[in-house]
Amino acid sequence: MQTFLASSSTRIDRPPADWRNEKLANESGVTPQGRRRFVILRRGCPGIAGRAKPRGPQKPAIFFDRDGVLNVDHGYVAKMRDWEWTPEAIRAIRYMKRKGYRVIVVTNQSGIGRELYTEEELLVLSEFMLREAPIDAIYYCPHHPDERCPARKPGTSMLEAAKADWDLDLTRSFLIGDRDTDIQAAERFGIPGFSYRDGSLYQFCKDAVRRAST
Ligand SMILES: [Mg+2]
Ligand SMILES: [Zn+2]
Repeated sequence: MQTFLASSSTRIDRPPADWRNEKLANESGVTPQGRRRFVILRRGCPGIAGRAKPRGPQKPAIFFDRDGVLNVDHGYVAKMRDWEWTPEAIRAIRYMKRKGYRVIVVTNQSGIGRELYTEEELLVLSEFMLREAPIDAIYYCPHHPDERCPARKPGTSMLEAAKADWDLDLTRSFLIGDRDTDIQAAERFGIPGFSYRDGSLYQFCKDAVRRAST
């Protein structure tokens, strides 16, 4: 991991300590429908769209991969018309919230680096996800694999950024992904990673909570 990070030419610039308040002031725009319920917290890598972190006790996180876990992976999904939640995905997210978890999405979005869609389009789709489900934040890496970005899974920088931003209790956190690279990222980060394929994501989450706590 050290070698990987050291050999990468991509540097991740950490946001300033007060980035959240600064961005909240600057980017929590008012829409015709009223005040936005979430904000674009940071563009770039890792980019972040999400809600303002409420005050409160430290919590564990459920890290969800996006494509193939929360939505059916139709390949580089960038438009709302191509978005299809997996079975009981929203119920699964609500369940994890009720169980006291932060719900954090960590997603490789190389479609941006490949110029198949723009960061703008990704953020519009993220806004839709945040409206539909009580997700706390979506972390994304827009880079092409050739850029060897340490945030791109199996790299762990997105997970590390989320831990720092949300003050997470990692002893009870875990990840659900659909690819080996998701599971590798979880293992490198020191949390369990569970591989989802199909079926009810809600049932899968219930089982995963049990497995993660034993
Ligand atoms: Mg996936
Ligand atoms: Zn990146």
